Amino acid sequence: MSRWRLKRECGGVEIVRMNDKNLEAALEDAHVPALVCSLVHITGDASLLKPEWRPTYQLMDRTNIGLSEETVGDIRATAKKILGDYLNAPYPLAPLPPPTVRQMMDFVTGVDIPEQYTAFVADELAISGSTKDPHWETPKLKKAAAGMKVIVVGAGMSGLLTGIRLRQAGIPFEIIEKNADVGGTWLENQYPGCRVDNANHMYSYSFEPNHFWPQHFSPQPVLLKYFQGIADRYDLRRSIRFETTLEEAAFDERTGKWNIRLRKKDGGEERVEATALVTAVGQLNRPRFPDIKGRESFAGPNFHSAQWRHDVDLTGKRVAVIGTGASAFQFTPEIAPKAAHVTVFQRTPPWAFPTAHYHDDVPEGMKWLMEHAPFYDKWYRFYLFWGSTEGFLPAVRVDPTWNGPEHSVGPANDMFRTMIAGAIKAQILDTSSPLADKVIPNYPLGGKRALLDNGSWLKALQRDNVELTDSAITEITPKGVMTADGKLHEADVLIYGTGFYASRFLMPMKIKGRGGKDLHETWDGDPRAYYGMTTPGFPNLFMIYGPNTNIVVNGSIIFFSECSVRYIVESLKMMVEKGVDMMEVRQDVHDEFNVRVDAENLKMAWGTPNVNSWYKNEKGRVTQNWPFSLIEYWQATIAPNPDDFILSKAKVEA
Ligand code: NAP
Repeated sequence: MSRWRLKRECGGVEIVRMNDKNLEAALEDAHVPALVCSLVHITGDASLLKPEWRPTYQLMDRTNIGLSEETVGDIRATAKKILGDYLNAPYPLAPLPPPTVRQMMDFVTGVDIPEQYTAFVADELAISGSTKDPHWETPKLKKAAAGMKVIVVGAGMSGLLTGIRLRQAGIPFEIIEKNADVGGTWLENQYPGCRVDNANHMYSYSFEPNHFWPQHFSPQPVLLKYFQGIADRYDLRRSIRFETTLEEAAFDERTGKWNIRLRKKDGGEERVEATALVTAVGQLNRPRFPDIKGRESFAGPNFHSAQWRHDVDLTGKRVAVIGTGASAFQFTPEIAPKAAHVTVFQRTPPWAFPTAHYHDDVPEGMKWLMEHAPFYDKWYRFYLFWGSTEGFLPAVRVDPTWNGPEHSVGPANDMFRTMIAGAIKAQILDTSSPLADKVIPNYPLGGKRALLDNGSWLKALQRDNVELTDSAITEITPKGVMTADGKLHEADVLIYGTGFYASRFLMPMKIKGRGGKDLHETWDGDPRAYYGMTTPGFPNLFMIYGPNTNIVVNGSIIFFSECSVRYIVESLKMMVEKGVDMMEVRQDVHDEFNVRVDAENLKMAWGTPNVNSWYKNEKGRVTQNWPFSLIEYWQATIAPNPDDFILSKAKVEA
């Protein structure tokens, strides 16, 4: 069985080798419900979906499948026989009848998936291959595609995805990237401890699984390698202009094209013309330093988490950390063991879900099964996907009848609050310590992005050399940080974990639409779009991860980008099919959509007035978040509705 040995690299990630001697060991590492689904594919036998083998996942720990050891042992013994025989003498697998696939969906997730979700989840499962590939197969479409030119801004996760899809559609494109390499956020954020907080087997393109993720939530260098590997595999680098920025894009109504001014690496200027402009610049890439008196006066090195100074050795230093968001939560435990002292300045404590396996390796056997057990990878991803589809969304929706404490928005929210606050308290070893009062949030769960907690944050905060202060910062002096209690916290190094200018979408690019209208002046600090992608007055401009497409407690942003890119490519196709050069979302359609979004965001924990976060702009409006379910975004973005747009022809040939 040496043919089972495999050498394949995926984004430079490690290689796994196994043989029949350790099949049994591999099965020990299996996600058992996904394994049963694999056996159904091999045998075609739906009776393997036995009710007594169906998982019952635990509320706060979905890694616990709720089956007895004896039952799991029976499943493994069955798998050893079926999978072992199949791998010894493989044969072509017959497609399963749709009712069986439907039954498997309910089996692997442990719930009876409501009927209205069937098409949506089937699309995501993509049992017979990628469902979101563009199809530009007719001669008319092929010819039209070849005559287009799309400029994409950003070579991060969304920009690379756009490049892949445009290439598949036969549409010429160029990606403009300010950095010297691909990767976007995974290139820029290189702070110690940076890692993904969405399970990796789901936080990857649906059509590019990586069977070799080293950890369930891999660190930044692994994510960067994955995206670099994607750029290489799809030969995208030849279409990317690195160290180039888009300074200005102006729409020419006569030609129906975007005139774009680029600033090149050598400082020179270049102008290009595009049929469509796609921005894939992310929401979290312009570091925000707080407006604190004396900030410039600090004498020692000081830097933002997204611009980490690896040349500054923190060993034996007194370090001040401002902020307790997702970034500081990850880097503080990493720097605390080497620093002489760390003072963490907290304004608002974060919520964090207990996630014991957050830093754990993916067991070797699991990687092997991903690679060898038919469809095991698809069903494992599907289990993860369903778990996050609605996720905690119902629990973070404001219950208008709720008359309990203000720190919750409804009974379910309050129940989770009690459970998670209990899990936080249980980590505080000295019960007389005031730490619990400081670290348990007084705002509703879901008000801000909830982080993942495997204990490392509170362990760090309880170190002898770490102090958490929640007294407000009043001033930064050359020596350190002054707080409202009159204390000067002396420091050698100051690190800002203070987040990004998230609601300044598309800054600092100048974008001029119809009639020379400036996008930022039009938005006036209050960015809005239709499904995050199009905005009135700016024909043929498409945004990915634009206004109101961020998610807080459900889904993955890769899912959103895949939906958006499908919609954008379908929009280009619609223009060809309708024989037009320009598409512009109708003002009334856009406005009506935004009224719905605003109303719904106010019904969510993050929209409540007692929560401040980067989800809201300076006017207090939630500009970032998608308040509806994933299925609603998926349905709305399968293809554009021509009635939503003003479709027109250019007056002159470009
Ligand atoms: P952030 O969530 O915006 O957190 C910024 C922190 O700085 C907050 O604790 C904030 O307090 C504090 N702060 C800001 N101004 C301050 C001031 N003047 N004085 C004192 N404290 C101040 O930023 P982030 O941690 O960089 O994370 C941003 C987002 O990036 C996350 O929400 C997440 O979506 C993403 N992210 C993801 C990962 C991951 O996937 N693992 C990792 C890092 C980041 P307040 O809360 O009171 O405003």
